[in-house]
Amino acid sequence: IMKKIAIYGKGGIGKSTVTSTLSACMADAGKKVMQIGCDPKADSTFNLLKGRQIVPAMDVLLANGGVCPSLDSVVQLGYKGIACVEAGGPTPGSGCAGRGIVKTFDVLEEFDAFGVYHPDYVLFDVLGDVVCGGFATPLRAGYAEEVVIVTSGEKMALYAAENIAKALDNFASRGYAKLRGIILNCRSVPNEEEIVRNFAQRLNTEILGIVPRDDNIQKAEDQGMTVEEMDSQLPISHTFQAIAKKIMDCGVA
Ligand code: ADP
Ligand code: SF4
Ligand code: MG
Repeated sequence: IMKKIAIYGKGGIGKSTVTSTLSACMADAGKKVMQIGCDPKADSTFNLLKGRQIVPAMDVLLANGGVCPSLDSVVQLGYKGIACVEAGGPTPGSGCAGRGIVKTFDVLEEFDAFGVYHPDYVLFDVLGDVVCGGFATPLRAGYAEEVVIVTSGEKMALYAAENIAKALDNFASRGYAKLRGIILNCRSVPNEEEIVRNFAQRLNTEILGIVPRDDNIQKAEDQGMTVEEMDSQLPISHTFQAIAKKIMDCGVA
């Protein structure tokens, strides 16, 4: 059984950190994982690839007259065989940012990427500042079944989180993706935990985990890896393992 989860949140909130660390935890738990970066920044899988940045699918298409030459040209295997993809985006200041996601999904479908890699879990790392048509693509039928929102207690992060939840509400009636829960990535805001707990309660959802500020995250990043890869025995790694377990336990046999 394959389960697809989209991780949304404001830019800079820690989506890629959280997503790639969860991917690493799932891989360490013996699962096959695919991570698809859906952020024009295209650095989602950086810490799964020893700090290498892969060529975004949009760039591959652009360089090849709109035709993807092979699955290999858009998928790179990272930590423990995690299949890494970056959608990428248009040239800054021009073109549609959401289109990169749609195009990338088309390419993955065309080459039957899920059939080739048959992942147990597919994690989409999606920029959630704008939940426009393009960025909402992972929420539509056939893509992500569940959504996890990463937020801090900061106003703008919660604002973005609220918008994502609203978009989900619109899709829910059509049987699309459902909100699985919230991950609090702490930013040392006063009363942060309480603020986010109240927020989760209002959305009628659960807090899947609380990630503290931790210098080890930066330390691992400097080596192009996740904390899980750097040292799976660290308290911060245990925190991520527990979140990964929660996400894995639900729904998949
Ligand atoms: P996003 O993908 O949402 O844009 P990133 O995952 O790239 O955000 O995170 C932005 C920066 O914040 C990264 O340099 C990352 O190492 C750092 N960071 C994220 N979460 C934490 C944390 N809990 N503790 C310390 N640093 C963090
Ligand atoms: Fe593209 Fe989104 Fe803008 Fe629509 S709103 S044109 S999908 S970036
Ligand atoms: Mg990111």
